[in-house]
Amino acid sequence: MKRELTAIEIVTIGEELLSGATLDSNAATIAQALEPLGLRVVRRTTVGDEAGGIADAVASALARTGAVITTGGLGPTDDDITKAAVAGVLGRPLEFREEVWARLKERWARRGRIPETNRRQAEVPAGAEVFPNPRGTAPGLAVEDERLGLCVLLPGPPAEVESLVQDAIVAFLAQRVSGDVKRPYRCQLRTTGVAESAIAERVGGRLDDLLLDVAYLPEVDGVDIRLTGWARDEVEVTERLHEAVRRLRETLGLHIYTEGPADLAQVVGDLLRQRGLTVTVAESCTAGLIARRLTEFAGSSDYFWGGMIVYDDRAKVELLGVAEETLRRYGAVSEETAREMAEGACRRSGSAAAIAVSGIAGPAGGTEEKPVGTVWLAVRLNDETVAKRRYYPGTRDMVRARAAQGGLDLLRRTLLQAGL
Ligand code: ATP
Ligand code: MG
Repeated sequence: MKRELTAIEIVTIGEELLSGATLDSNAATIAQALEPLGLRVVRRTTVGDEAGGIADAVASALARTGAVITTGGLGPTDDDITKAAVAGVLGRPLEFREEVWARLKERWARRGRIPETNRRQAEVPAGAEVFPNPRGTAPGLAVEDERLGLCVLLPGPPAEVESLVQDAIVAFLAQRVSGDVKRPYRCQLRTTGVAESAIAERVGGRLDDLLLDVAYLPEVDGVDIRLTGWARDEVEVTERLHEAVRRLRETLGLHIYTEGPADLAQVVGDLLRQRGLTVTVAESCTAGLIARRLTEFAGSSDYFWGGMIVYDDRAKVELLGVAEETLRRYGAVSEETAREMAEGACRRSGSAAAIAVSGIAGPAGGTEEKPVGTVWLAVRLNDETVAKRRYYPGTRDMVRARAAQGGLDLLRRTLLQAGL
C-alpha cells in the first residue's frame, strides 16, 4: 500500500557541498517545486560522499518522516555510492536493468563505445521505479518500502534535478500527497523607499484577523511583503488574501509599486509607455545601472531614449551642459548639479522625462558634510524638476544599487502624483 505523504526530507550528497565549494541549490529547487503540492520539506541534511554518512542520513530521515529525496552520487565514478547506500538501508540488492543500460548506450552512441565502468549506472535498488533523465546519464529512481518509507534518488547536476523534478517527480509525489493536506496560497506586494520597521509599525495588527502568514522580506532594493494562507482549497483563502492586499494598499499607498514579482524598472517602463513618454538618464555614481535596468525588457525602446554616463565633472559639463559655476560652487553631489543634470538630459534628448543621479558610493570620497552614501536624485517631468537628497547605507555596490532603485522610484512617484 502506498503511504499518504504530508512531509518529506531532503538529503543532499557531496563533499563539495560540505566544503562550500558548491552552493546547495538542489535542495532549494526541490523544496520550491514541492511546496505547491502541500508537501512540506521539514528537514534538510547534507552529507559527504561516504556510504556510512549517506546511509545514516537516509535511515534517520525515513525514521522521522517516512519520505526522503536525495541528490548526488548517482554517477559512474567511485565516489558515486548513493544507490548502494540506500539499497543497504532498505535491505535490497542492486539489480541490473537492461532498459537503463540500453538508454545509456544510446546516449553514448554519438560519442563512441560506452566504457564498461558505466554498467554500474544501470544498476538500481531492486524494485525501483526509473525516471529517464533527458539531460544526463543517471536516471532518477524511486524505491518504496512498505515499512520504512519512500526514497527518491536524483542525480547531482542542478539542470538534471530541475528537469527531473518538473517533468516527473512532482507528478509522482502528487499522487501520494494526503488529500487533506493544506497548501500555501500566496500574494506578494513589493515596496521600496520605506524601511522594514516603518512598514511593520504601520501595518501593526491590521491583518491579524485574516489568519495569514505575513513575512517582511528586506532586500537591497526594498521590502517585499509576502502573504501566505494555508488551505485545502484556494477558495478558502482568496477572500482573505484580497482583503489583506486591500488593507495594505490603504495603509502603504504609493510605497507599494507592484503586486507580483515585477521589477521596479518594468513598472516604470509600463507607466511611461501608457503615457507615451520617453525617459533619458543622466547617471554619475550609478554609471549606467538605471539604463541597464530599464532595458532588461523587450520593447524598452518604446520608453527609453538613452542616456549619458557623466562620471567626471567634464562629462557633466560637456554632455549635459551643467554650468561650471554650479559644480565649483555646490560640488558634483548637490541638489543644484542633480537638477541641472536632469534638465540637460531633457534638453539634449527632447524626452519629457529624465532621471539624474549624483552621489558618493565610497568607500573613499566622503566628507563630514557629505558622507559616503550621500546621493542626490533628480527627476524632471514636463518642465518641472524635483530633487531629493538620500543617504544610502552599505557597501559601494549596495549604495549604487540603492541609488538606481531610488532614481527609478522617484520617477514612478512623480508620474503617479502628476496624475498623468
Ligand atoms: P554525475 O553523473 O554527473 O557524476 P552525480 O549524480 O554523481 O552525477 P554528483 O557527482 O554528486 O552527481 O554531482 C555532479 C555535479 O552536480 C557536481 O558539479 C556537483 O557539484 C553538482 N551538485 C551536486 N549536488 C548539488 C547540489 N545539492 N546543489 C548544487 N549542485 C550540486
Ligand atoms: Mg558524480
